[in-house]
Amino acid sequence: MPISVAFLGLGAIGAPMAAHLARAGHLLTIWNRTTARATGSAAAAAGARVATSAADAVRDAEIVITCLPESSDVAELLAAADHALLKALRPGMLLVDCTSGDPDTSRRIASDLAAIGVGFIDAPVSGGVAGAEAGTLTVMVGGPADALERARPVLESFAGKIVHCGALGAGHALKAVNNALLALHLWSTAEGLVAAMKAGVAPQVALDVINASSGRSNASMNLFPERVLTGAFPRTFRLALLAKDAGIAASLARAQKSASPTLQLAADLMRIAHLELGDEVDHVEAVTLVERWAGVELRS
Ligand code: NDP
Repeated sequence: MPISVAFLGLGAIGAPMAAHLARAGHLLTIWNRTTARATGSAAAAAGARVATSAADAVRDAEIVITCLPESSDVAELLAAADHALLKALRPGMLLVDCTSGDPDTSRRIASDLAAIGVGFIDAPVSGGVAGAEAGTLTVMVGGPADALERARPVLESFAGKIVHCGALGAGHALKAVNNALLALHLWSTAEGLVAAMKAGVAPQVALDVINASSGRSNASMNLFPERVLTGAFPRTFRLALLAKDAGIAASLARAQKSASPTLQLAADLMRIAHLELGDEVDHVEAVTLVERWAGVELRS
């Protein structure tokens, strides 16, 4: 059964997710802050209506999906222009937030929406732009199980795996932890390869051995061979967003008063790399800072 869906935020990952919704036959309306990105999108080409504002987009929606950089962007969008979007939402609607956000802000948003009869689940995704294009994303959901069941036919348009992680905020918490681990794997693999290189082992040889041994990770198996050794660095997931995620994981751990020096380290390293390299670089380019500090390059 086609479902009426509004999709807000057609960035690097939102755009291919929305395209799957349109191709799956859902009644899709899309909105993006920069309109040209919506009108030129694959979702529009597949028949989605391009809305003139976020409030216009949700007019007839049963399910509203947000995919913005941070939870604060979702809260600001709801409140913008004298709460135009918030006022356009109707009782019975469900907001599915695919932003990689932070649990506290999401719980506040959920509480504001509950006051007007609108449901909320956090549903961040993993799998990258390649996974979004293939329709094989993993969706990690926090919130009521019945709300997830309502959203499931929509999420299935772009997901290979959907996991109910727990109460509101659980999806965002897990996503932040996953990405803090990604940050640590990226950084520590770069340090290890630099150390091996200075000890006379070529990066390709070091990766061949690590990837057949217990030090391997997605970073060593995929990101280093495809992006670091080639120097290709395609821009799929901004370092600014990874720094944000690692920061969320570290502040979660701090709030729980658990000893977590490596989560804090991941947040600090990504913040430094983001400050050094700027807003637009891809997350994998963080390793160029390790290279710069060491005075070597890990190219083949
Ligand atoms: P991008 O930076 O590519 O796009 C951000 C999108 O949000 C754009 O559509 C942008 O509009 C819009 N936007 C930014 N700020 C606001 C605002 N204040 N109000 C309204 N719209 C706004 O991000 P991604 O698509 O890469 O990421 C989106 C979310 O998905 C993030 O939380 C990210 O961490 C997460 N994610 C990303 C992955 C990836 O591989 N890229 C993988 C998994 C999760 P405009 O076009 O006008 O700039």
